[in-house]
Amino acid sequence: MSADFSFSSYRALLQAFADRDYKAMSYADADPARRHLILRHDIDISLGAALPIAEIEREAGMAATYFVMTRSEIYNPFAPDGARALAHIVDLGHRIGLHFDAALYGPGQQLDDAAARECAVLGKIVGQDVHVISFHRPAPALIGRAGTIAGRRHAYEPRFFAEMGYCSDSRGGWHRGAPLNHPAVRAGTALQLLTHPIWWLDPAAEPAARLDRFLDTKFAALDRELAEHCEVHVAGRRVVR
Ligand SMILES: [Zn+2]
Repeated sequence: MSADFSFSSYRALLQAFADRDYKAMSYADADPARRHLILRHDIDISLGAALPIAEIEREAGMAATYFVMTRSEIYNPFAPDGARALAHIVDLGHRIGLHFDAALYGPGQQLDDAAARECAVLGKIVGQDVHVISFHRPAPALIGRAGTIAGRRHAYEPRFFAEMGYCSDSRGGWHRGAPLNHPAVRAGTALQLLTHPIWWLDPAAEPAARLDRFLDTKFAALDRELAEHCEVHVAGRRVVR
């Protein structure tokens, strides 16, 4: 099933929330009992894919929180393209949080220390303190975990996950119902809306095909980069041995 995920449908979704008197709020300020909307983006795959979404939110007058990984094998917030994209997102008035992969740390390691270190690294890149964390593919024990991590709020706290509505576009679809049909929205109370910008880039394609296209683009960029930094490699040429 391919949901109608496109820039125009995202714009329309924000407008529909505005028409219902919803206001986009930060994690710190959102009140579960009010018409508050937390716009959350977990960046799993591409910082660049977040830019058009960040622009649309700016046009709508809504600020979101973009959760960014520091230890991804897929993108690098320190690399020039990544750092530029992050700076642009901040310039548009959005907040940056840490997208934290707890699975990278062994059971004996302190998650609070690890998260604090990653927040410090990300804070250096964006030039501001990072106050909020979302877990990447959280283990069941982390979902609904009460209390802070590394002294910071996290997106799966009961306040944001149970006391208010929660809706996600995970795996490229509204698998648990569309946000406007959520009981919290019908009741006029708060919603945390998690979207992943990569799913909204290419409305014609199924989710798996969107990832294939992303991979083609990524490979072409890597090919050019390799040619630039190593003269043995010639861009566009594959040596078959
Ligand atoms: Zn994730």
